[in-house]
Amino acid sequence: MARYTGPACRLCRREGLKLYLKGDRCYTDKCAITRRANPPGQHTHSRRKVSEYGLQLREKQKARRIYGILEKQFEKYFEMAERMKGVTGENLLQLLERRLDNVVYRLGFANSRSEARQMVRHGHITVDGRKVNIPSFLVNVGNVIALKEKSRSIERFKENIEQSSKTVPKWMELNAESFEGRILSLPEREDIDIPIEEHLIVELYSK
Ligand code: SF4
Repeated sequence: MARYTGPACRLCRREGLKLYLKGDRCYTDKCAITRRANPPGQHTHSRRKVSEYGLQLREKQKARRIYGILEKQFEKYFEMAERMKGVTGENLLQLLERRLDNVVYRLGFANSRSEARQMVRHGHITVDGRKVNIPSFLVNVGNVIALKEKSRSIERFKENIEQSSKTVPKWMELNAESFEGRILSLPEREDIDIPIEEHLIVELYSK
């Protein structure tokens, strides 16, 4: 699956907030948002009134960038969310949170979603004991997500989990000693701490 490979910090500067795309660096003074928060490109200091469409578009781009998803795939998630029972915007966020790469990141196995995606791609992650190398795999209640036995001795992964300052969301539980996490329930809106106004995304796609 294709993914954005350009400079990550540029995306944060475009959105005007930290999207935490680079792991450890995001928590240091080297963070580009801390040093220079204006958007990339020329004329970035001019004050322009943002249209309603502009606001909706920015919100969608922000969500895409946080989860590292390209346009087409994001549209597919929206279509799935529309077909589900309940509130479309909340369904959309729930689907994004259920992605295996996001879960690996939330459990603290990886420092960023892009690192988590790479771990999945490289076959370091199992779901219910079977290797799954598809970052977009959607986890379900009861799934056990683990670091593959052989990968547990990799220093980088051990450090990640030992040094993780992340609080594991309440819809999953972590057993750090056995490098395993279990999905306890599907995430509700209040469990998802990303700064997104999902109703703007729904409005954008409903035009
Ligand atoms: Fe964004 Fe992290 Fe770069 Fe800061 S260091 S701008 S939070 S990706």
